[in-house]
Amino acid sequence: MDQNIQICKRCLYSNLHPLGITFNTEGVCSGCEIFEEKNTLDWKQRWLQLEKKIKPYKSKKKNYDCIIPVNGGNDSYFIVHLVKNKLKLNPLLVSYNKYFNTPLGIKNLSNLRIKFDVDIIYQNVNPLKIKKITRHTFNELKSIYWPILAGSTAFPVQTAINFKIPLIIWGAHQGVEQVGMFSHEQEVEMSRRYREDHDLFTNDETNLNKLENDLTDDDLWQFKYPDDKSINSIGVRGIYLSNFVRWDPVAQHIQMIKDYKYQSAKFSRTFDTYDHVDCYNYMNLHDYLKLLKHGYSKVTDHVCREIRHKRISRDQGINLIRKYELVNPDYLNLFSDWLGLNMNSLQMVIDRSRDIKYWEEYDLNKFKFNGISKNFNTTIDNDKTQKLSDYFISNSKISLNKKPKYITFGKGFEN
Ligand SMILES: [Zn+2]
Repeated sequence: MDQNIQICKRCLYSNLHPLGITFNTEGVCSGCEIFEEKNTLDWKQRWLQLEKKIKPYKSKKKNYDCIIPVNGGNDSYFIVHLVKNKLKLNPLLVSYNKYFNTPLGIKNLSNLRIKFDVDIIYQNVNPLKIKKITRHTFNELKSIYWPILAGSTAFPVQTAINFKIPLIIWGAHQGVEQVGMFSHEQEVEMSRRYREDHDLFTNDETNLNKLENDLTDDDLWQFKYPDDKSINSIGVRGIYLSNFVRWDPVAQHIQMIKDYKYQSAKFSRTFDTYDHVDCYNYMNLHDYLKLLKHGYSKVTDHVCREIRHKRISRDQGINLIRKYELVNPDYLNLFSDWLGLNMNSLQMVIDRSRDIKYWEEYDLNKFKFNGISKNFNTTIDNDKTQKLSDYFISNSKISLNKKPKYITFGKGFEN
């Protein structure tokens, strides 16, 4: 047990959370404290606040009222549902193509466009450039997701400026939802600073360009967050619905499955069936790199969320984390083929990604895991195992494992 690690008494986040977390005198984390607002705020009142906020953006002439960044997974359906059906805005959807698309993601995105009868534009940066950047960020930053995180946070802002649509509507703010960085009532908005510090872990495109590498301005310009002058000339702002709605991704997904046929899937490294079903890598190699670098993985995020929503007990959460976090990632061969890196070289980069704080090399290339979960109190006596399948529906007939292959573009319907 590491004396420097503090684990929240309520959820299972530690003081080493990369977004930053603080603890109160009772040992409860800032994320759990801010979560309490979900049970105390007057959400009807919050919704009225939101309606007031968006009113000036309702266009009188034929035009888009706002931009919604979407993909074939996560909370995209629920966000479009709220914006189009509840707020009665006319959105332009924008989607950054991540190249690691699953058939399920293609299907979900296409169905989203049809079910909600909305327009969408895709950003498809050429694959040679994406591979060049990914090769660099994987090797140096141990991140295969940099172009996706940078692209999907820059492209909506670029589009807002190009189309002169000042309002961007996002779903949840991770800083609020996970670690309670802000109160819901602060109504934190999208910012260059948050993107650089937290979404991209201080490696934005300008920093990437300064490092010693072969990346040039020409490689990185699509990932550039627009300058303040352009942003201010249109008055671009990005708001988060989770500050105005009692955000509960699981309940929302169940509703979206019922009402709009959102499709979900099982993964090897977590019990959640809704997040990132559009990507072969997020819940696999990307999540495994998170474990190597930060000593915990996405299953901990899912567990902490579920403990707070009281759908699972803390002890059940500990068991779930231990069950899933060390499972080997799937689809590594797809990634190595795509990047043109053989499996041995891929494994070398993976092994170099381990933070020695969490991994002890006890023999050549053999590592013992000393991650965050090793510090959990192990006397489990309260694992009242809930039936997770009641909450985590896996309803897709499309198997991710059947002839897995990245899809760049797809028509998205089989009939
Ligand atoms: Zn907590």
